[in-house]
Amino acid sequence: EAKRRGKGQWIAYTNEMGARISAEAVLIRELDQAVERDEFSLLYQPIVRLSDGRLMGVESLIRWNHPVRGLVPPIEFIPVAERTAQIVAIGRWVLREACRQAAAWTREFPDAPPLYVGVNVAGPQLRDPNLVADVAAALAATGLPAGSLTIEVTETAVLDDEQSHATMLALRTLGVKLALDDFGTAASSLGLLLTCPVNSLKLDRSFVESITTVSRQAAVATAVSQMAAALDFGSVAEGIETAEQRDLLRGLGYEYGQGYLWSRPVPAERISELRTHELAVATS
Ligand code: C2E
Ligand code: MG
Ligand code: MG
Ligand code: MG
Repeated sequence: EAKRRGKGQWIAYTNEMGARISAEAVLIRELDQAVERDEFSLLYQPIVRLSDGRLMGVESLIRWNHPVRGLVPPIEFIPVAERTAQIVAIGRWVLREACRQAAAWTREFPDAPPLYVGVNVAGPQLRDPNLVADVAAALAATGLPAGSLTIEVTETAVLDDEQSHATMLALRTLGVKLALDDFGTAASSLGLLLTCPVNSLKLDRSFVESITTVSRQAAVATAVSQMAAALDFGSVAEGIETAEQRDLLRGLGYEYGQGYLWSRPVPAERISELRTHELAVATS
């Protein structure tokens, strides 16, 4: 009896595993075609200066317009694309498209200070020997000044990796800026901050979420902001949803903020509208 149950469980387990493996195989095949079929698009989320609420930049965030499944969020395909290294080809498209759009905004608003664009770059992209050349080519082809591009990397992607470190230095030499994304979530090594050539830290959303209710989260947010100031890094707080969170983080010294309080990620045209409105208010 026990044996039979054991066997039944084993069969159920493998069936479930089999289903999962074939679903992933389908996803991998579809991802291969998605770049050629032009199924990806970028949304942009405003990044504002906390002192006065001015729009300073945007983060580009990928979406997959799947022919059957509709709009697929990144959490459902980026982790797979990282494992298969398909993220390298996808990321090349993202980089080019984000630079093109940011350069277009500069032309659309020639008299306004340029917006910077943040582009997420995953570990396998950072270890791709062609990344620096791809970035240089994207800047040259679109005419975007290097200083208007911020590449967002996570701690796990850069931790203890000689090649990633060399790549980041080469990107800095191009004039591109670097941000350490989701800061505080990985096994944050303080030593990393001394050697990692980043310009800014992005405090992870998980700390912002409970900053007004959990004192331990608030303590981490405080420490990160003090560290950023001491090391001359810029600081961005992600995932701000309430005015209370904004006020607290501004008080802690965070320079920039990003979150649903201002806007969800939106299509490029919406950013143009926001900008037009902001500039009209500023000159009226
Ligand atoms: P991330 O780089 O940390 O991006 C911030 C995520 O937080 C975005 O989710 C954004 O929509 C979400 N967010 C922003 N403000 C708020 C808020 O106030 N509340 C809540 N609940 N969420 C907020 P999204 O667009 O689903 O992207 C998830 C992750 O997927 C990104 O995290 C990034 O790691 C990855 N990703 C997105 N686009 C790309 C890309 O082009 N390339 C690569 N390699 N990764 C990407
Ligand atoms: Mg990011
Ligand atoms: Mg983040
Ligand atoms: Mg994240």
